[in-house]
Amino acid sequence: MKCPYCENKDSKVVESRESSDSVRRRRECIRCGLRFTTYETVSRKTIMIVKKDGRMEPFSNEKIEKSISLACAKRPLELGRISRLVMDIEKELNSHTKLEIESKIIGDIVMNKLRQLDQVAYIRYVSVYKSFQDQESFKDELNSLDQQSIKYDINKNQLKLIDLDSKVIAPKRKRSS
Ligand SMILES: [Zn+2]
Repeated sequence: MKCPYCENKDSKVVESRESSDSVRRRRECIRCGLRFTTYETVSRKTIMIVKKDGRMEPFSNEKIEKSISLACAKRPLELGRISRLVMDIEKELNSHTKLEIESKIIGDIVMNKLRQLDQVAYIRYVSVYKSFQDQESFKDELNSLDQQSIKYDINKNQLKLIDLDSKVIAPKRKRSS
């Protein structure tokens, strides 16, 4: 398990908590000393991914975590959020009755989760994922995003900047008479 801060591979467990279907572990990086959380689940069965060309490969949560981490790079997410997301995806896959699942279905599950989590990460993921499929559907995805909410966020940020500026330009002073 790599440290999310310095990517060092060695960490020690400082706390371990068990719930009904997973173990939550608090780890401390041997190198940088920072702490992070991991979740461990039992894999009930081996799920095989059926690729577009018909080839099969075993489902790997590390691979999924890697692609999600890439999409979420530098996004303001709370620590351990990605691991929890991967756990959710694994749970969802385990609830499928079939042991062979098309790669497209997994891609769709990841897209749905990212869409709820972070719009920028979602767009990044979709752009990589869809680039191998077709360009038109990517445009549709972009168009279907809630443009209003994006605009609203930008406006809010601009207002914040103006507020800060005006405080610098016009500090309140007590007038002495
Ligand atoms: Zn570290």
